[in-house]
Amino acid sequence: MTENDIKENARAWLEENWSIDLSLLTWRTRLLESGWGVPSWPKEYFGLGLSQNETSEVDEVFAEIGAIGAAHSGVRMLAAATLLEHANDSQKHQYLPGIITGAEAWCQLFSEPGSGSDLAGATTKAEREGDEWIVNGQKVWTTSAHHADFGLLLARTNWDKPKHQGLTFFVLDMHQPGVEVRQLKQMNGHASFNEVFFTDARIPHQNLVGSEENGWPVAITTLAHERRSFDRNRDGGGIMKKAGPIYDEYRQEVEIANEPYRWYPQRAGRVDLIVERAHQTGAIKDPVIRQEIAKLLMLNQSAQWTAARARAAQKAGKPQGPEGSLGKLAASNIARLASRVHTMITGSEAMLSGENSPMEGVIAEILVSVPAVSIAGGTDEIQKNIIAERVLEMPKETRFDGGPFKDVPRNQAHNEQ
Ligand SMILES: Cc1cc2nc3c(=O)[nH]c(=O)nc-3n(C[C@H](O)[C@H](O)[C@H](O)COP(=O)(O)OP(=O)(O)OC[C@H]3O[C@@H](n4cnc5c(N)ncnc54)[C@H](O)[C@@H]3O)c2cc1C
Repeated sequence: MTENDIKENARAWLEENWSIDLSLLTWRTRLLESGWGVPSWPKEYFGLGLSQNETSEVDEVFAEIGAIGAAHSGVRMLAAATLLEHANDSQKHQYLPGIITGAEAWCQLFSEPGSGSDLAGATTKAEREGDEWIVNGQKVWTTSAHHADFGLLLARTNWDKPKHQGLTFFVLDMHQPGVEVRQLKQMNGHASFNEVFFTDARIPHQNLVGSEENGWPVAITTLAHERRSFDRNRDGGGIMKKAGPIYDEYRQEVEIANEPYRWYPQRAGRVDLIVERAHQTGAIKDPVIRQEIAKLLMLNQSAQWTAARARAAQKAGKPQGPEGSLGKLAASNIARLASRVHTMITGSEAMLSGENSPMEGVIAEILVSVPAVSIAGGTDEIQKNIIAERVLEMPKETRFDGGPFKDVPRNQAHNEQ
């Protein structure tokens, strides 16, 4: 099939099926049943087996017509990518439909108080009891756990094996008595993450993803997609501004899903505001500030080119290169420099928040949100380690955590089995 045929097929299907009078769930069910919701997925799992390039053609037609696509916000696409690669047939049929229709939301239960960068040091434990696994322990930093129906859980099931080999990956039902979610308030005033406590939480054995004690490669798949920013965006064509009940429903869905991410533009440093602010305040005439602005804009532009190269490689079906870690590191450097330039432009008033403050507190929010970029999705130091070892092929760090995990030195508080 040529690109034109694909576009024609998509257009013909939309003309027959898309209507703004449908409910969002009815519409998304049509997408699910036809494969047009996620055309790049395999035919047997709610897709059409199209390439990324062909899928972009379909996206264009959706945008042209103003049709809403499959749900794609939040952690659900990370869950989908992980399940498509590692889940069994019945798990895929159980969970992928709720992801596409948006009926079910997901969260990523990986980081713990004693294991963030050292993710494989997880001590949340799952023990087999008949047809169930009993989970005890704690996760932290879990974005959107307060909205989630299911969690991707990495838990320790064997303490006698080396740390990467004793982990198992599960799908956990978040709505059960043994799961307690507590929201954490951040220094920027938002509350996007949670602590999640498990006290004898239960997971049916059929929710184990991959095989027992082989959870690490499954978690790596989730992380690889996280760094690659897997989300496809079908919100072209100004869908967010269109009138009609189905668009209202969609806007409401996006608003709830995006609520934990409202401050994300600020955490990226708001480079887009810099030149205008410099003109408004007269700081543009200051030669030192001008130099810093130029440095920032150059850094930002080169990062955009790296991201464009990564997107082109992904579209061409090439395996992920070093761009993920390079891009993540560049984002941290840009955000930090942007927050410094904002402070140079605004002066001490940058610290003020509230109605009468510069840009109604946006500048202050930038200052207290930017540190998150160099932590989320793997810290700067971890990205540097990855680049050193996998791209520059430098010798690996000396490790002291081999042998049975129960004998690996850990913080006292996280030492219990
Ligand atoms: C906005 C945001 C959203 C998040 N969402 C989620 C989520 O949904 N689910 C989830 O599971 N987690 C989530 N996280 C957690 C995130 O993945 C961890 O915070 C991150 O991996 C760092 O772990 P840590 O906080 O335990 O820091 P630590 O690992 O304790 O690191 C502390 C410091 O030591 C450095 N360090 C650690 N190891 C090394 C090393 N080997 N070499 C050199 N330096 C090192 C680090 O770079 C850092 O500076 C989120 C975090 C943020 C900020």
